[in-house]
Amino acid sequence: MSAKILMTCLVSLALSALAGAALAAEPALLLAHVAIIDGTGTPAKPNMTILVEGGRIAAIYPDGSQPAPTGAKVEDLSGRYVIPGLIDAHVHLTGAEPDFAHYVPHLQALLRGGVTAIRDMAGDDRLIAYLAGEANSDALASPDIYYVALMAGPTFFAEDVRAQEASAGERLGFAPWMQAIGPDTDIRLAVAEAKGTGATALKLYANLPPNLVRQITAEAHRQGLRVWTHATIFPTTPTEAVDAGVDTISHSPYLVWAAAPKVPDDYRVRALGDFTHIRPDAPQIVSLFKAMKQRGTILDATLLPFLEEAKHASGKVGAGIMPWSYAVTRLAHQQGVLVDVGTDSSGLADGAQGPNLKALPLVHSEMALLVEHCGFTPIEAIRAATQISAAAMGQSAQRGTITPGKRADLVVLNADPTHDIGNTRKIDFVVKSGRIYRKDGG
Ligand SMILES: [Zn+2]
Repeated sequence: MSAKILMTCLVSLALSALAGAALAAEPALLLAHVAIIDGTGTPAKPNMTILVEGGRIAAIYPDGSQPAPTGAKVEDLSGRYVIPGLIDAHVHLTGAEPDFAHYVPHLQALLRGGVTAIRDMAGDDRLIAYLAGEANSDALASPDIYYVALMAGPTFFAEDVRAQEASAGERLGFAPWMQAIGPDTDIRLAVAEAKGTGATALKLYANLPPNLVRQITAEAHRQGLRVWTHATIFPTTPTEAVDAGVDTISHSPYLVWAAAPKVPDDYRVRALGDFTHIRPDAPQIVSLFKAMKQRGTILDATLLPFLEEAKHASGKVGAGIMPWSYAVTRLAHQQGVLVDVGTDSSGLADGAQGPNLKALPLVHSEMALLVEHCGFTPIEAIRAATQISAAAMGQSAQRGTITPGKRADLVVLNADPTHDIGNTRKIDFVVKSGRIYRKDGG
């Protein structure tokens, strides 16, 4: 065992011991006199009390209608608002940085910024699985982490440096979390190996034909895994992916390929769609949304990363990508397609290190884009980042709404977010699994 790994283990053992001690002593928590925005899309309910016990929401009732349990810690939240913990449904936590310690302040900043769970959409599962273990057991002040094992066609692994880095040390295309799938692959075994990583889902990324997408999706569902896909698994089209039964489909702008005369052979040109000539309400896209609504396929819109690319790397994206992406996301919402909130980032702005680590998570910016450009009301944007993102993550039974029996993952706000979505940034404190996390570390 290297000194670095040994240190990491010792640090995490110490953290686990601390968390265990804190959990055992946790009294009931009463959040009183608060307006609840419960994440289901219904209007705020003022003057309510939430009782938290054992890390879960035990009861919700009008102020004063029940006596406070003896020994409960009472937070008087007069004038404040509570929403479910925010979920960033598209994160890539691990990059070139292999050191566990690097992620501790990063994850803490996400949690204190209102994010109580993240869906990691591909990276090095050796590290992600370790972080998820620490986060999901509350040994680490962190959002809970759910993650994928990636599959793509064999040629992808030679082409994509990110896949090479995320499986360094393994035979390329054979790591259980970065698998090359071809016509001769034993799909049942490949899915079982992916499941063995602790992943919640497969991510289908590139260079897979529709018949393989169908086979993989059916086998993943049979083995209890979800399937979270890119819209551009060329040669598979977005429509063929939805018809194969995938659970979520990522990136609004890539839906342009549903209405293109033909899809390219190379996934790397995926952001260079013809946004000038293909209408966002083209008949093929309208019927794609009908199918998604019927099947419950969630659109993981991820507008923010494309806005950044359009600003800073405009050669990488097709002209007109942002108005098109806003319009197609608005249409999806109007047609009743479920839209989640994902940032396709580390969850924080690039370079958000040192003092900038106090910068708020990007999930707030993605919610604002839905309101400003895509016809969402603030309450609908909050639902997208909570109930729908939880559904995207396969966690509806446990989280995403303020409901008795669900986990007590909550964000208490100092200002009303139902009139101004910017007010989700005005965080008083965050509750995860019933424990309070304040910005100043208290
Ligand atoms: Zn991504």
